[in-house]
Amino acid sequence: MSDAGIEPTYIGRNENLVFIVPKELFSMSLGPAEILDRETANLFSKYLRGTFKGFQQSRKTKYGNENNNKTDVSPDFWEKFEKKAKELDVDFISYTPVNENYIFKDLKVYGKNAIILGMEMKWDKIKKAPGAICEIEVFRVYKVLGDVTIELAEYMKHLGYKSEAHHPFGGKLLYGPHVTAANLGIMGRNGLIISPEFGPRQRWSIITTDAEIPKTKKRDFSDLQESCIKCGACVRECKGGAVYEIPIEKPNGVITHIDRSKCIQSILENNYCSYCLRICQPSRHS
Ligand code: SF4
Ligand code: SF4
Repeated sequence: MSDAGIEPTYIGRNENLVFIVPKELFSMSLGPAEILDRETANLFSKYLRGTFKGFQQSRKTKYGNENNNKTDVSPDFWEKFEKKAKELDVDFISYTPVNENYIFKDLKVYGKNAIILGMEMKWDKIKKAPGAICEIEVFRVYKVLGDVTIELAEYMKHLGYKSEAHHPFGGKLLYGPHVTAANLGIMGRNGLIISPEFGPRQRWSIITTDAEIPKTKKRDFSDLQESCIKCGACVRECKGGAVYEIPIEKPNGVITHIDRSKCIQSILENNYCSYCLRICQPSRHS
């Protein structure tokens, strides 16, 4: 059951939650109509390669936990951790216990608690969706947040806490229910987490760890929730016709707002689409 002598904390048992990243996403490229200068094209290529490399690297962060048995933290531990994360451009940090029901089937997770990290995708780029400028920003944040998540997981491991990084491009557990449990936002009608700070314009990642976590802070999202219920722009304007008017509850209890195959198709045909990030009212900041 264990890999290299490290006992997983959980093994996903939810029959209806199977981890799939469509392989077509690993061969993303800019559309033929997109003409970029060499420097921008190189940057895009760097972010793409960095995303895929980080995704694979994060799956190996379970190694090195062989002797990590600490759980107690000092009173100023999280203050120092958050300072370090902010210096690395992380915009959101919160904490919640891992919810076993939202671990993908048969995947092994190391650590009983989840540190949730979030990073903004900048409005001046997202407002150009769909197109190369937005797509580059999407992959910039996948790469940067992925690298930061790995760095912070290694930091936790170095201090003696069993920890594992889960990359923003795809982790071993569903992010949405953990982000809402950590009180960082609501589940929007576009199937994305909507935060009061940036709407749907952020990526999320998780570090699972055995370190004891602070209590989740309470926040009131009732205004945000109400305006999302009234709005419906993403349902009306989704480029792929992928957003359900009435979300579907799957047998595993997960509420699905999106027809995933239609959305993936639009992502592949429209430079990672992301139009729903642009039209969502709380996303707009200029
Ligand atoms: S576009 Fe409107 S309905 Fe859709 S997630 Fe944003 S606020 Fe909610
Ligand atoms: S990415 Fe495009 S197709 Fe997918 S939900 Fe958003 S607008 Fe719709």
